Amino acid sequence: MSESFKCARCAKCCQTYWITLLPEEAKGLSKFLKVPSGKFLKEYCVLFLQAFPMQKRDFSNPLVISRKKFSGKIGARLSRKSSAGFFLCLPSIALRREKKNCIMLSRRLDCKVHSKRPGQCRLFPLISLDSKTDLKKAYSFCKGLKGLESIDLRENLKHYKKVKAYFESVKKKGFQKAWKQFPEKGVLLLDKEKICGISQKEFFRLFGP
Ligand code: SF4
Ligand code: SF4
Repeated sequence: MSESFKCARCAKCCQTYWITLLPEEAKGLSKFLKVPSGKFLKEYCVLFLQAFPMQKRDFSNPLVISRKKFSGKIGARLSRKSSAGFFLCLPSIALRREKKNCIMLSRRLDCKVHSKRPGQCRLFPLISLDSKTDLKKAYSFCKGLKGLESIDLRENLKHYKKVKAYFESVKKKGFQKAWKQFPEKGVLLLDKEKICGISQKEFFRLFGP
Protein backbone atom coordinates (compact mmCIF):
# COMPACT_ATOMS: atom_id res chain seq x y z
CA MET A 1 0.00 0.00 0.00
CA SER A 2 1.22 3.50 -0.81
CA GLU A 3 2.76 5.25 2.22
CA SER A 4 0.74 8.37 1.56
CA PHE A 5 -2.59 6.58 1.68
CA LYS A 6 -4.54 7.56 4.79
CA CYS A 7 -7.55 5.40 5.56
CA ALA A 8 -10.39 7.47 7.02
CA ARG A 9 -11.72 4.33 8.80
CA CYS A 10 -15.22 4.97 7.56
CA ALA A 11 -15.72 1.19 7.03
CA LYS A 12 -17.61 1.77 3.77
CA CYS A 13 -15.50 -0.93 2.11
CA CYS A 14 -16.40 -3.39 4.93
CA GLN A 15 -20.07 -2.59 4.32
CA THR A 16 -19.84 -3.03 0.55
CA TYR A 17 -17.77 -6.03 -0.49
CA TRP A 18 -17.62 -9.75 -0.03
CA ILE A 19 -14.12 -10.60 1.20
CA THR A 20 -12.75 -13.80 -0.28
CA LEU A 21 -10.01 -15.67 1.54
CA LEU A 22 -6.98 -17.61 0.43
CA PRO A 23 -6.56 -20.92 2.32
CA GLU A 24 -3.57 -19.54 4.27
CA GLU A 25 -5.58 -16.45 5.26
CA ALA A 26 -8.40 -18.63 6.61
CA LYS A 27 -5.84 -20.63 8.65
CA GLY A 28 -4.31 -17.41 10.01
CA LEU A 29 -7.71 -16.04 11.01
CA SER A 30 -8.82 -19.24 12.78
CA LYS A 31 -5.53 -19.22 14.73
CA PHE A 32 -5.95 -15.53 15.57
CA LEU A 33 -9.51 -16.11 16.80
CA LYS A 34 -8.40 -19.28 18.62
CA VAL A 35 -11.09 -21.44 17.02
CA PRO A 36 -10.47 -24.73 15.17
CA SER A 37 -10.46 -24.21 11.40
CA GLY A 38 -13.62 -26.32 10.85
CA LYS A 39 -15.50 -24.16 13.36
CA PHE A 40 -14.09 -20.97 11.86
CA LEU A 41 -15.28 -21.93 8.37
CA LYS A 42 -18.72 -22.92 9.69
CA GLU A 43 -19.31 -19.85 11.83
CA TYR A 44 -17.54 -17.07 9.96
CA CYS A 45 -17.53 -18.11 6.30
CA VAL A 46 -19.63 -19.07 3.28
CA LEU A 47 -18.90 -20.98 0.12
CA PHE A 48 -18.57 -18.29 -2.50
CA LEU A 49 -19.26 -18.79 -6.18
CA GLN A 50 -18.80 -15.86 -8.53
CA ALA A 51 -20.04 -16.45 -12.09
CA PHE A 52 -19.11 -14.34 -15.10
CA PRO A 53 -21.06 -14.74 -18.39
CA MET A 54 -19.01 -16.14 -21.29
CA GLN A 55 -19.62 -15.51 -24.96
CA LYS A 56 -18.54 -19.03 -25.89
CA ARG A 57 -17.68 -22.33 -24.27
CA ASP A 58 -14.08 -23.15 -23.36
CA PHE A 59 -13.34 -26.86 -23.04
CA SER A 60 -9.78 -26.20 -21.85
CA ASN A 61 -10.92 -24.48 -18.64
CA PRO A 62 -12.66 -26.66 -16.01
CA LEU A 63 -13.99 -23.50 -14.33
CA VAL A 64 -16.17 -22.71 -17.37
CA ILE A 65 -19.55 -24.26 -16.66
CA SER A 66 -22.64 -24.64 -18.80
CA ARG A 67 -25.80 -22.99 -17.45
CA LYS A 68 -27.51 -26.38 -17.84
CA LYS A 69 -25.31 -27.68 -15.03
CA PHE A 70 -26.98 -25.37 -12.49
CA SER A 71 -29.95 -27.15 -10.94
CA GLY A 72 -33.63 -26.06 -11.25
CA LYS A 73 -34.15 -23.01 -9.01
CA ILE A 74 -30.59 -21.75 -9.20
CA GLY A 75 -30.45 -22.22 -12.98
CA ALA A 76 -33.76 -20.36 -13.33
CA ARG A 77 -32.53 -17.43 -11.22
CA LEU A 78 -29.34 -17.23 -13.22
CA SER A 79 -31.34 -17.27 -16.48
CA ARG A 80 -33.45 -14.34 -15.28
CA LYS A 81 -30.29 -12.26 -15.03
CA SER A 82 -28.23 -13.50 -17.96
CA SER A 83 -28.93 -15.31 -21.21
CA ALA A 84 -25.36 -16.62 -21.46
CA GLY A 85 -25.03 -20.35 -21.98
CA PHE A 86 -21.66 -20.56 -20.19
CA PHE A 87 -20.11 -18.96 -17.15
CA LEU A 88 -16.60 -18.64 -15.85
CA CYS A 89 -17.19 -19.75 -12.25
CA LEU A 90 -14.67 -18.86 -9.55
CA PRO A 91 -15.21 -21.04 -6.47
CA SER A 92 -13.85 -19.70 -3.25
CA ILE A 93 -14.59 -19.11 0.43
CA ALA A 94 -15.60 -15.68 1.74
CA LEU A 95 -16.25 -14.04 5.09
CA ARG A 96 -19.96 -14.07 5.95
CA ARG A 97 -21.93 -10.85 5.85
CA GLU A 98 -24.54 -9.85 8.42
CA LYS A 99 -27.02 -7.13 7.54
CA LYS A 100 -24.72 -6.36 4.59
CA ASN A 101 -21.69 -5.83 6.85
CA CYS A 102 -18.64 -8.06 6.98
CA ILE A 103 -19.00 -10.40 9.98
CA MET A 104 -15.70 -9.07 11.35
CA LEU A 105 -16.95 -5.50 11.57
CA SER A 106 -17.73 -4.42 15.14
CA ARG A 107 -20.65 -2.16 16.11
CA ARG A 108 -18.15 0.67 16.48
CA LEU A 109 -17.06 0.02 12.89
CA ASP A 110 -13.68 -1.43 13.86
CA CYS A 111 -12.28 -4.57 12.29
CA LYS A 112 -12.20 -7.36 14.90
CA VAL A 113 -9.25 -8.99 13.12
CA HIS A 114 -7.43 -5.85 11.98
CA SER A 115 -3.86 -7.17 12.40
CA LYS A 116 -4.77 -10.37 10.53
CA ARG A 117 -7.20 -8.93 7.99
CA PRO A 118 -7.13 -10.63 4.58
CA GLY A 119 -5.06 -9.24 1.69
CA GLN A 120 -8.14 -7.90 -0.06
CA CYS A 121 -8.83 -5.65 2.98
CA ARG A 122 -5.20 -4.78 3.62
CA LEU A 123 -4.79 -3.52 0.06
CA PHE A 124 -8.11 -1.80 -0.48
CA PRO A 125 -8.59 0.59 -2.29
CA LEU A 126 -5.26 0.15 -4.09
CA ILE A 127 -6.48 -3.10 -5.57
CA SER A 128 -7.33 -3.87 -9.14
CA LEU A 129 -6.86 -6.72 -11.58
CA ASP A 130 -6.57 -4.21 -14.38
CA SER A 131 -3.93 -1.47 -14.13
CA LYS A 132 -6.03 0.76 -16.41
CA THR A 133 -8.89 0.99 -13.88
CA ASP A 134 -9.43 4.51 -12.57
CA LEU A 135 -9.48 3.65 -8.86
CA LYS A 136 -10.72 7.10 -7.78
CA LYS A 137 -13.73 6.61 -10.02
CA ALA A 138 -14.25 2.92 -9.20
CA TYR A 139 -14.09 3.54 -5.42
CA SER A 140 -15.42 7.09 -5.30
CA PHE A 141 -16.88 6.44 -1.80
CA CYS A 142 -13.39 5.92 -0.34
CA LYS A 143 -12.41 9.13 1.44
CA GLY A 144 -8.78 8.01 1.76
CA LEU A 145 -8.34 8.03 -2.01
CA LYS A 146 -9.46 11.62 -2.46
CA GLY A 147 -6.19 13.43 -1.73
CA LEU A 148 -3.89 10.70 -3.00
CA GLU A 149 -1.52 11.91 -5.67
CA SER A 150 0.25 8.76 -6.82
CA ILE A 151 -1.11 5.25 -6.87
CA ASP A 152 1.27 2.37 -6.22
CA LEU A 153 -0.12 -1.05 -7.17
CA ARG A 154 3.03 -3.13 -6.45
CA GLU A 155 1.57 -4.85 -3.36
CA ASN A 156 -1.63 -5.46 -5.28
CA LEU A 157 0.36 -7.29 -7.98
CA LYS A 158 1.97 -9.58 -5.38
CA HIS A 159 -1.45 -10.41 -3.96
CA TYR A 160 -2.90 -10.96 -7.43
CA LYS A 161 -0.16 -13.55 -8.10
CA LYS A 162 -1.25 -15.48 -5.00
CA VAL A 163 -4.92 -15.32 -6.07
CA LYS A 164 -3.95 -16.53 -9.54
CA ALA A 165 -1.94 -19.42 -8.05
CA TYR A 166 -4.96 -20.37 -5.91
CA PHE A 167 -7.29 -20.59 -8.95
CA GLU A 168 -4.63 -22.49 -10.93
CA SER A 169 -4.47 -25.06 -8.11
CA VAL A 170 -8.30 -25.26 -8.02
CA LYS A 171 -8.25 -25.87 -11.78
CA LYS A 172 -5.65 -28.62 -11.56
CA LYS A 173 -6.47 -30.35 -8.27
CA GLY A 174 -10.04 -29.28 -7.59
CA PHE A 175 -11.72 -27.07 -5.00
CA GLN A 176 -11.97 -29.77 -2.34
CA LYS A 177 -8.20 -30.42 -2.35
CA ALA A 178 -7.49 -26.70 -1.99
CA TRP A 179 -9.63 -26.42 1.15
CA LYS A 180 -10.31 -29.83 2.79
CA GLN A 181 -12.85 -28.29 5.23
CA PHE A 182 -15.85 -26.21 4.19
CA PRO A 183 -18.60 -23.83 5.31
CA GLU A 184 -22.08 -25.37 5.25
CA LYS A 185 -23.82 -22.65 3.26
CA GLY A 186 -22.94 -20.66 0.19
CA VAL A 187 -23.84 -17.77 -2.09
CA LEU A 188 -23.92 -17.39 -5.85
CA LEU A 189 -23.04 -14.07 -7.45
CA LEU A 190 -23.36 -13.00 -11.06
CA ASP A 191 -20.37 -10.69 -11.36
CA LYS A 192 -20.90 -8.47 -8.28
CA GLU A 193 -24.64 -9.09 -7.78
CA LYS A 194 -25.84 -11.73 -5.32
CA ILE A 195 -28.26 -14.05 -7.09
CA CYS A 196 -29.20 -16.52 -4.36
CA GLY A 197 -27.97 -18.88 -1.68
CA ILE A 198 -26.37 -22.13 -2.79
CA SER A 199 -26.19 -25.31 -0.71
CA GLN A 200 -22.99 -27.21 -0.04
CA LYS A 201 -24.51 -30.13 -1.99
CA GLU A 202 -25.12 -27.97 -5.07
CA PHE A 203 -21.69 -26.37 -4.78
CA PHE A 204 -20.00 -29.79 -4.64
CA ARG A 205 -22.15 -31.03 -7.53
CA LEU A 206 -20.51 -28.28 -9.62
CA PHE A 207 -17.03 -28.54 -8.12
CA GLY A 208 -16.93 -32.07 -6.78
CA PRO A 209 -13.99 -34.42 -7.14
S1 SF4 B 1 -12.12 -8.35 7.63
FE1 SF4 B 1 -12.05 -6.41 8.68
S2 SF4 B 1 -11.21 -4.96 7.21
FE2 SF4 B 1 -11.90 -6.74 6.07
S3 SF4 B 1 -14.00 -6.25 5.42
FE3 SF4 B 1 -14.11 -7.39 7.35
S4 SF4 B 1 -14.21 -5.83 8.92
FE4 SF4 B 1 -13.44 -4.83 7.05
S1 SF4 C 1 -10.19 2.12 2.77
FE1 SF4 C 1 -11.49 3.82 2.13
S2 SF4 C 1 -13.62 3.04 2.24
FE2 SF4 C 1 -12.30 1.64 3.42
S3 SF4 C 1 -12.37 2.38 5.52
FE3 SF4 C 1 -10.59 3.36 4.59
S4 SF4 C 1 -11.35 5.31 3.81
FE4 SF4 C 1 -13.15 4.04 4.23
